[in-house]
Amino acid sequence: MLGSCPYCNDGSITAAKKTVLGKQTKVYSCSNAHFHTEDGECFESVGSCAYRIWGNSLAKYGKRAIGEQEIKKLLRYGSFIAVLHSRNGVEYRKKIVTHYEYGISVLFNEEIAS
Ligand SMILES: [Zn+2]
Repeated sequence: MLGSCPYCNDGSITAAKKTVLGKQTKVYSCSNAHFHTEDGECFESVGSCAYRIWGNSLAKYGKRAIGEQEIKKLLRYGSFIAVLHSRNGVEYRKKIVTHYEYGISVLFNEEIAS
């Protein structure tokens, strides 16, 4: 268990490994979420909560995986700072917050002092 679910009263977030479109990734999901389709395109919950974070959510921003320590921080403090990379390899930092539908969301408008 990595922390309490931010979107329901009694759920806790645990990590599992999934293969999505042929690639293995971690998914951090609420104990109240029970998924019957898990192909990354369609991820419907038949449980009382549908909260999950894909470990590869930030891959398109140059961060290949979100680790368990980052998830713990996110659940405890509501955010964490991720080091991302632009297409031309420039590193930048952004605050990551929880988002019920997408798992996480990047606060692009917020500047982080490095
Ligand atoms: Zn939940």
